[in-house]
Amino acid sequence: MKKVVIPDYIYTPSGVLKNHAVLIHDGIIEQIALKSRVLKENKDAEVLFYPKNSLLFPGLINAHVHIEFSANKTQLSYGDFISWLYSVIENREDLIAECDLSCMTRAIDGMLKSGITTFGAISSHGMDLDACLLSKQNVVFFNELIGSQAGMADVLFQDFMQRLKESKRRQRRGFYPAVAIHSPYSVHPILIEKALDVAKKEGLCVTAHFMESVAEREWLDHAKGDFARFFAELLKQESPVSSSMEFLHKFRGVKTLFAHVVKASDEEYAFLKENGHAIAHCPISNRLLGNGKLDLAKVDGMDMEWLLATDGLSSNYGLDLWEEMKVALFMHSEMPLHDLAKKLLDSVTINAAKALGLKKGVLQEGYDADMLVIQLENSPTEELPLHLILHRYDIVERYILGERV
Ligand SMILES: [Zn+2]
Repeated sequence: MKKVVIPDYIYTPSGVLKNHAVLIHDGIIEQIALKSRVLKENKDAEVLFYPKNSLLFPGLINAHVHIEFSANKTQLSYGDFISWLYSVIENREDLIAECDLSCMTRAIDGMLKSGITTFGAISSHGMDLDACLLSKQNVVFFNELIGSQAGMADVLFQDFMQRLKESKRRQRRGFYPAVAIHSPYSVHPILIEKALDVAKKEGLCVTAHFMESVAEREWLDHAKGDFARFFAELLKQESPVSSSMEFLHKFRGVKTLFAHVVKASDEEYAFLKENGHAIAHCPISNRLLGNGKLDLAKVDGMDMEWLLATDGLSSNYGLDLWEEMKVALFMHSEMPLHDLAKKLLDSVTINAAKALGLKKGVLQEGYDADMLVIQLENSPTEELPLHLILHRYDIVERYILGERV
């Protein structure tokens, strides 16, 4: 059945509309037009009215999250990347065991409550598959490949392919199996090539972590720094499996969402830009792990595609994009306030959708009807983007693929 949604205001790329309605059919926005016209032409549709100062806004998209580590509150060590990594290894089994279906579902439902209607889940072992499939949201399910030792390559690749196959077998509407390459330091080049071949052949979305820490920079450039001890102790490995540029060149022709990219060089930024890749910026995670901050003014000035994401609860205290936007707004204080506020909103809607290859993130005809009804306190002004970020307005309704959830 068709639905006509009539809020007081609609947030669209061509400005905030009043006296308009959205017609939804089969999960898609079929029409946005004057409400008198939409009502007249669709007499048999279900009509949903919302009160004065209600604003229809695109559902938020959290493109980079690790659901598996949702049990962490205070177990992991913050402030320094390598100390954090050791604490992850030390607590990994416990954290995974503690995070059963209900723990993961709580994290996912929390995201929905805060307006996240789509998320990209990085899955290292597939134990989050059920929670993601059962969720009401759209999910890009990134089966992650990790392993730097050539001797283990076959076993690791088979395990990866098995998880990918399982996620494909069980997919539902709004659930998209995808591929994650853990990082340049942790995945053997042969494995990367094989996985990217699969992604290319099957048209799957791809993501990877890249240049998150100083340790990663020093290890890849000089086989030195904190990672040198880490790899020597844990894997008896003395040098990196590839340089950063060797790693990046493998992603030619495969549009990829690179997470963090805090410590990238000019050459690497230029490569990402030239090849149409996108950057996932996780400001809270970067701060908590002592990784500094992305030069967002530079990335944005280069006209690169970027988006904001929360990362997992292993390096964040919430999975909340409003909080993430607020932190980013204050962290990047060198950028003009109102312009940045608008860009942050775009980053968690239309930009995130583009990076994940989805037709979402904007209220426009032909796009998926993933929408929030936000109750403003006053009629919107020119400064609406800023106030959306500053004030935690109530979300009174959530639509996913045209259904109220
Ligand atoms: Zn991550």
